[in-house]
Amino acid sequence: MLYSADALCQKLLCQCGLCQCAHGRLALRAAGRSVPVRQPPQVAGSYTGSARTSTAVNTALIQLAAAGLYCAAGDFHIDPWRPVPRAVITHAHSDHARAGSALYFAHLDSLPLLRWRLGADANLQGVAYGERFRLGRAWVSLHPAGHVLGSAQVRVEADDEVWVASGDYKRDADPTCAGFEVLPCDTFITEATFALPVYRWRPTADVAREVLDWWRGCAERGEVAVLGCYALGKAQRLLAELGALGAGRVLLHGAMLPAVEIYRDAGVQLPPTAAVSEQAKGMDLAGELVLAPPSALGTPWMRRFKRASTGFASGWMQVRGNRRRRGFDRGFVLSDHTDWPGLIDTVIGTGARRVLATHGSTDVLVRYLAERGIEAQALKTELGGEN
Ligand SMILES: [Zn+2]
Ligand SMILES: [Zn+2]
Repeated sequence: MLYSADALCQKLLCQCGLCQCAHGRLALRAAGRSVPVRQPPQVAGSYTGSARTSTAVNTALIQLAAAGLYCAAGDFHIDPWRPVPRAVITHAHSDHARAGSALYFAHLDSLPLLRWRLGADANLQGVAYGERFRLGRAWVSLHPAGHVLGSAQVRVEADDEVWVASGDYKRDADPTCAGFEVLPCDTFITEATFALPVYRWRPTADVAREVLDWWRGCAERGEVAVLGCYALGKAQRLLAELGALGAGRVLLHGAMLPAVEIYRDAGVQLPPTAAVSEQAKGMDLAGELVLAPPSALGTPWMRRFKRASTGFASGWMQVRGNRRRRGFDRGFVLSDHTDWPGLIDTVIGTGARRVLATHGSTDVLVRYLAERGIEAQALKTELGGEN
């Protein structure tokens, strides 16, 4: 049935965007008009309570819909992969923050990163960690995920239930972002990028020391050390860790520059950096450390360096064959996702009675949890893994 825009009910005409009036929303969509969105009220206080203890989890507060994870009680999506009226964004990585939605809610520190990724005219609403805001009949709040600057878990409370969607997260300390907060909940939607027992991270400082040793070795051999790492998160974390060990100036591929500046603007301490492109043409860069997106390492850009050794910093480097297959001289095991012990600790720490697993080795995790009496299930999303 097609409704005309004139036939909207009174409730929707108030433009509050809160009315759970399916008929009105349907009419707007059918008439090709956008569904109104509301700004959240200014709310005070932060969440400190424990999970509600409803006796059974029968309903799905958040479910998998065509555009992504959807909360009907609040009429919003989390990290949708198609444009939607209201999107709550966990962090600024491209598989989680996609252009085209009418309104985005994200942590305040994510806003400059989202503006860089989505364009200056994206309609962004910044939220502090722990600040509760109401969407529909749901209370929503963002909490640190420890993944990258501004990354957040989404806590949703409605109908006597608490659900938490983790987004991407890690449990290791990271000097460039707020540390992960364990949130009690009824249902925990967890990422599962490295959900295999083989993935166990070593202390980050040890990995940073390995990078320094490799850099020193390259310098002694008259080589440039070109380290492939993701431009948002991994590069800044590496810089901060190297800086803490007393590293000097690091050179950057052009793709690394915007996020490094955004991190600095947010007050994150990083060692001095300079762009490779600012160095004099033909200048021998032997002895320098260069950070570049992994995709740049096999391209003509590398001709800039006379003799180079290549490295790659990623959780995938835990598996030896991956380094050889991708043609890097060195692999450094460093991930912004949780390892297997961190994942299991987190799931148990939330006290969730049901766990839904997205992107990664979901089947192994589901089986492991089921064997321990935790109801678990995989959700097939269009979210990616670690780059
Ligand atoms: Zn991510
Ligand atoms: Zn992800």
